[in-house]
Amino acid sequence: MVVFAEYIWMDGHQPTQKLRSKTKVLPDLDEVTRPDQLPAWGFDGSSTNQAPGDNSDCHLEPVRVYPDPIRGHPHVLVLCEVMLADGVTPHPTNPRAALREVAEQTAEHEPWFGLEQEYTLMQGMTPLGWPDNGYPAPQGPYYCGVGADEVFGRDIVEAHMDACTEAGLGITGINAEVMPGQWEFQIMGKGALEAADDVWIGRYLLYRIGEDFGVSATVHPKPVKGDWNGAGMHTNFSTKAMREEGGMAVIEAACEALGKRHEHHIKMYGAHNAERLTGLHETQSIEKFSWGVSDRGASIRIPLATAQQGFGYLEDRRPAANADPYVLNRLLLETIVLGVTDTPETDTPESVALTA
Ligand code: ADP
Ligand code: MN
Ligand code: MN
Ligand code: MN
Repeated sequence: MVVFAEYIWMDGHQPTQKLRSKTKVLPDLDEVTRPDQLPAWGFDGSSTNQAPGDNSDCHLEPVRVYPDPIRGHPHVLVLCEVMLADGVTPHPTNPRAALREVAEQTAEHEPWFGLEQEYTLMQGMTPLGWPDNGYPAPQGPYYCGVGADEVFGRDIVEAHMDACTEAGLGITGINAEVMPGQWEFQIMGKGALEAADDVWIGRYLLYRIGEDFGVSATVHPKPVKGDWNGAGMHTNFSTKAMREEGGMAVIEAACEALGKRHEHHIKMYGAHNAERLTGLHETQSIEKFSWGVSDRGASIRIPLATAQQGFGYLEDRRPAANADPYVLNRLLLETIVLGVTDTPETDTPESVALTA
């Protein structure tokens, strides 16, 4: 049968990488369920900030396949890693490769990741539902609101949730956020790569479905300046030891470890995050590190239920909505599970940029 395969990859855009995709028509394939059924492919890296024009070929290596909820069966979405032209060396703009290694080293700890992806729907330069000039009524009624005067874009959000479910993502919920036009979807993954891959495909589907409604979505952490909530990507994290009897001590030790590496995490938790982490709007200041039970003004929150039962998970509230889940998940595993304390200068958001 004929399969349309949408190859999806991360580009070299700075300071925040974006998604690119193109379609391969595969005329004679059986049901596609695994990446090894699909051919590698290439693209022009000079058009994506990934290669100079005189040496422009980059390699796309399929790493995960999802049923395509947009085109339907038998078509697929193909998540790819970008490799150099040799086909095996990860490109500098491929942050998944570094997570792959750390995920393998830590797999025995069975880490789970629950990522809360906040985003803002936009009509042109204005959040969806906002007046062309001026502002809506102040924040208060919008979070988890209902009614045409309080929430904007629910048709898009519902279509997105359907699509995520059909694609098999680990989506666990959606909600309207504190700022009007702002929403959240949550992805739960039992494995660092699974969770991060699903977030990236969740973002792809959001942008793609937005096209059909003439609405775009942004993950900028502070899309509107002033007294409006920013957008984050709270990351809920646990290991097997945290989820078992005695887990609270493991969670507290994790909080201490995170505090010691605060600056490094912040450096890697998304561009423009200082505009969001002000100490207001349910955030801790970017300069400070704190953790506490049920505290939404802390850097790390331990949910009340976790404290009460003595085991569970922690929530890192620092990541910006535009953070890269490959980087986030890698840092959490390094700091909490592997006990890494150093903050290599070579590990920078720009280290993925093309320096050639
Ligand atoms: P909040 O109250 O912060 O808005 P959400 O319900 O939006 O929380 O998101 C919490 C996320 O954490 C969900 O995706 C959920 O599946 C995930 N989660 C629940 N338990 C765990 C756990 N033990 N480890 C990691 N993530 C978890
Ligand atoms: Mn949430
Ligand atoms: Mn939220
Ligand atoms: Mn949260």
